[in-house]
Amino acid sequence: MRVLVIGGGGREHAIVWALSKSEKVKRIFCAPGNAGIAELAECAPIPVNRFDDLITYTKDNAIDLVFVGPDDPLADGIVDAFEAHNIPIYGPRKNAAEIEGSKIFMKDLLRKYNIPTAKYETFTDYETALAYLRRQSAPIVVKADGLAAGKGVTVAYSIEEAEKALQDMMVDKVFGQSGGRVVIEEFLQGQEMSILAFVDGETVRAMVPAQDHKPVFDGDKGPNTGGMGTYSPLPHIDPALVEDAIENIIKPTAKAMVSEGRPFRGVLFAGLMMTSSGVKTIEFNARMGDPETQVVLPRLKTDLLDIVLASLNGRLDQLEIEWSDEAAVCVIAASEGYPASYPKGRVITGLDAAKAQGALVFHAGTAKTDGEIVTSGGRVLGIVGLGRDIAEARARAYEAVSAVHFEGMHARTDIAAKALR
Ligand code: ATP
Repeated sequence: MRVLVIGGGGREHAIVWALSKSEKVKRIFCAPGNAGIAELAECAPIPVNRFDDLITYTKDNAIDLVFVGPDDPLADGIVDAFEAHNIPIYGPRKNAAEIEGSKIFMKDLLRKYNIPTAKYETFTDYETALAYLRRQSAPIVVKADGLAAGKGVTVAYSIEEAEKALQDMMVDKVFGQSGGRVVIEEFLQGQEMSILAFVDGETVRAMVPAQDHKPVFDGDKGPNTGGMGTYSPLPHIDPALVEDAIENIIKPTAKAMVSEGRPFRGVLFAGLMMTSSGVKTIEFNARMGDPETQVVLPRLKTDLLDIVLASLNGRLDQLEIEWSDEAAVCVIAASEGYPASYPKGRVITGLDAAKAQGALVFHAGTAKTDGEIVTSGGRVLGIVGLGRDIAEARARAYEAVSAVHFEGMHARTDIAAKALR
């Protein structure tokens, strides 16, 4: 088969890598891809929101199947657009992707079907929201309704901070339309966990759980990022909590989407908080996580293409998916200054040495210029160590990190440390 992967980050590199292991995949294409993906796939510099150009490219290259990585095109209806041309595409339709595209839609769905989540109120009017906020106590969480590249959430430790976030979103419109409507919700305390699941209608095949590290610096200090590192499995987490989340959050949500006439097909990602009163939903994403994918797919034993084909043919319920017992730890190497502005074009060295040590090096923000691989994004590489347990995987990941260099490179030194305590 000839497969096109849409996107160009670390997640997409991991997806391309997993597909490249399938004997049934003859050729992989990627739009737009990156320097690492280009080693496994033919990359085309088409932006992910140019549906017409992507459809033309798909037809011109006789592509049999399309796999969508990022959230924006899904929210904008890329699946509906390809389906209108009868091109098989894996991902949720626009009406199902709304579970990520609108936090208000997601929260109202969970409330309607009694699925555990933080208590909340939604607002479309600034003065009403402000008056409500002033009756609450901190910490409290303010969220822009729409997509905001992972930056639309403020966990406020004072009411003043929450007021500032509200003002930014609703008055100063720093997230444009996305902040026109907001959710103000209860602060949940606990450890976070991500569970991704292959979902087709009411069929849910959960993947192995992972944990992300959002803040940029060690000890969870500094501003939130897209994710600075992940690991899987979670040896310090009671497996009953994972079961609880699958049975009481993910499955009922898949069922609720069917009841609402928005059946979900694709990867559903649940961001969860393990609180003292049980597991609660923080968010749903309508696609694989980045950098969760980089530790989950290396543990997948079943052919990823078979899972996608089973979903597209309505047979996911008949497929048993196998996972390895191996542990995986992903450390993100980021550009100096990220998540604020950062330089680009810095030469990356040591990639072959890291790979020779057995690490998987997934590229995120990289490009090739004049034969050299250079930085081109905030998150540059996801370096994954594999091992019998987290300690071994972590040691291997950090050994490979120390082999890689670019000017101003920043990586957290405490990824997965929580699992060893
Ligand atoms: P992303 O797409 O990058 O995952 P997002 O913009 O969709 O982010 P959320 O995942 O909803 O935002 O929230 C981002 C982070 O804020 C969470 O990972 C969590 O750490 C924190 N957070 C969100 N809601 C709450 C809450 N109710 N209580 C405590 N922390 C929260």
